[in-house]
Amino acid sequence: MELVQNHKKLCTHCGQCLDVCPMYEDLGLIERLYAFLETGVGIEPEDLSSCLTCGLCAEACPEGLGLKRLISPARKKLVAEMGLGTRQTMVDPAADNNIFKKILEMGGLSKVPEYKSGPAPVVYFPGCAANYINTSMSKATVALLEEAGVDYSVLSGLEYCCGAVSAGAGNPGPLQRNAKKNLDELKRRGAKILVTACPGCFKAFKDIYPRVFGAPDFEVLQISQYLERLIQERKLILRHPLKHRVFYHDPCHLTRGLGVYREARAVLEAVPGTELANKSPEGSACCGFGGGVRASAPDKSLAIASGRHKAAKALGCDLIITNCGGCMQNLTEAGAESEEELEVVDLAEYLARAFGKNIKREDRKMLEEVNKAYSLCLQNYILPDKASNNYL
Ligand code: SF4
Ligand code: SF4
Repeated sequence: MELVQNHKKLCTHCGQCLDVCPMYEDLGLIERLYAFLETGVGIEPEDLSSCLTCGLCAEACPEGLGLKRLISPARKKLVAEMGLGTRQTMVDPAADNNIFKKILEMGGLSKVPEYKSGPAPVVYFPGCAANYINTSMSKATVALLEEAGVDYSVLSGLEYCCGAVSAGAGNPGPLQRNAKKNLDELKRRGAKILVTACPGCFKAFKDIYPRVFGAPDFEVLQISQYLERLIQERKLILRHPLKHRVFYHDPCHLTRGLGVYREARAVLEAVPGTELANKSPEGSACCGFGGGVRASAPDKSLAIASGRHKAAKALGCDLIITNCGGCMQNLTEAGAESEEELEVVDLAEYLARAFGKNIKREDRKMLEEVNKAYSLCLQNYILPDKASNNYL
């Protein structure tokens, strides 16, 4: 296998990938991954399920390798051989145990908002996380689009799931089923600009779909990029101060995955009275949510998220700002049990506040329903051990 041969040729077993990895410690994993990819044996499922897909290992590797580039194909291989598990199907919109379906069956987190859905030059794609779980993200964005006078519509609903999260968990089915349908719907609406909330959806439209269907005839922007543009074009004119020292949490798939980290910082620095503590992504780390780890190892996942609260507090911040549904959920949950932890705010939500638009949040209800949904979707789901604060 060419991938393995190249890795073997370049890897010096220096261990620098493991120095930064929040999940693995054993350098022997590299040999087990080689063996599994070449012969189909020699790996334990936990070897694969623990990866956050954060990309820190690749960034640290002097050869530009890291472990993720072996783990991701190994996950796909395992699923191809063993079939889909509940961990994969819980993010498949066609599956009965899809987490967003479970949330809707429970009554929905403060009801999924109904947005404009007709033809428009700007189409906002909140993705499942901002549509069903972190609804404040989509509400804040729509409030800002209205404020800026943008001619927009919203493309949302499980039937349009971009499929990126499922593909990351080893199940490419939803991506293969929905990509063409999503592109056709954008064409039907006459989209000139597509704006996504989550980095996963951004990657799907910006990077994955074009590899199959060619370059789209619309521009693909992540919300941080579009908000910066609206400010630069003076469609959003910031006058009212928000006095906070803020910490920007870089979502892994946006910063390390796609190299987009400047725009969110520019938006924050445009808000009068706001002081940004971390002006570059240097030292950024994972929130612990990704790669299915929040579902399979909740305590560990939330312990990693607590680390981000500590990093923000060490810089004297009073707010954490981010722009990814998974990061929002995990950082909010890690902060929910202690008054000492910081408030976590979505980038669009923060900007909306600067226009006097305070989006109502129901974090407790959201976390309760999400954990209930995990229990319904996954066999043997273990609730995070908040009673003993095991995850701190
Ligand atoms: S993958 Fe890179 S960082 Fe990890 S052991 Fe090999 S050379 Fe070192
Ligand atoms: S992607 Fe992240 S969790 Fe996975 S091996 Fe690399 S550093 Fe570790």
